[in-house]
Amino acid sequence: MIGCECEVCRSMDYRDKRLRSSVHIQTDELSLVIDTGPDFRQQMLRERINHLDAVLFTHSHKDHIAGLDDVRAYNFLQNSDMPLYGRKEALEQIKVEFYYAFENEKYPGTPQLRLHEINEDPFSINELLITPLPVMHMRLPVLGFRIGNFSYITDANFISDATYERLKGTEILVLNALQKPKHLSHFNFEEALEEVKKIGAPKTYFTHISHKLGKHKDIEKEIPDSVALAYDGLTVTL
Ligand SMILES: [Zn+2]
Ligand SMILES: [Zn+2]
Ligand SMILES: [Zn+2]
Repeated sequence: MIGCECEVCRSMDYRDKRLRSSVHIQTDELSLVIDTGPDFRQQMLRERINHLDAVLFTHSHKDHIAGLDDVRAYNFLQNSDMPLYGRKEALEQIKVEFYYAFENEKYPGTPQLRLHEINEDPFSINELLITPLPVMHMRLPVLGFRIGNFSYITDANFISDATYERLKGTEILVLNALQKPKHLSHFNFEEALEEVKKIGAPKTYFTHISHKLGKHKDIEKEIPDSVALAYDGLTVTL
């Protein structure tokens, strides 16, 4: 956090350096990213992601879309538009915030984006089946995504019965756990641990962690074996 001198912000542990939340998914066929936050470029460079087939959006808050302009690198590399998947509201917001990418007479070099509106129904990219996981982020509907037995839910503080149903059998769950204090629109640490019990995935990783959650090495001791704190650069294989 800019201007913060707390023990997390001053920590030298690389696991306490928390860029904005995103995940890259590599299957045999496809390279996908969920959300392009302000740190997208840095994350793609760090992980050497040299090919990207599509971006899925959970919602349009700035910390999840601000880095979208940088997909233009993939436009150049792949000589194609970047397909974006999101609900209508999220895509409308992207059109407002990146208006210059949707003008008829585009300035050369602006990102080339192709919008694919999705709703709560499962959809496919090429052959890959993706199941949306509708959740609530205070009043804002947000989508998590399930791909095979991997499920990703960020920016939520409520999960409906229908979504619990869609989470059944998931082996790896990524779930937001913002901080220790109660929050208006995110599960805090305690609430996220309750969700872990309810959902019962063999392994859950907490993400969207702020500096108010404390240091990785301290929190790690407070969580059951089935839970781990995600950190920047973590790779999980399924
Ligand atoms: Zn801090
Ligand atoms: Zn949000
Ligand atoms: Zn967020």
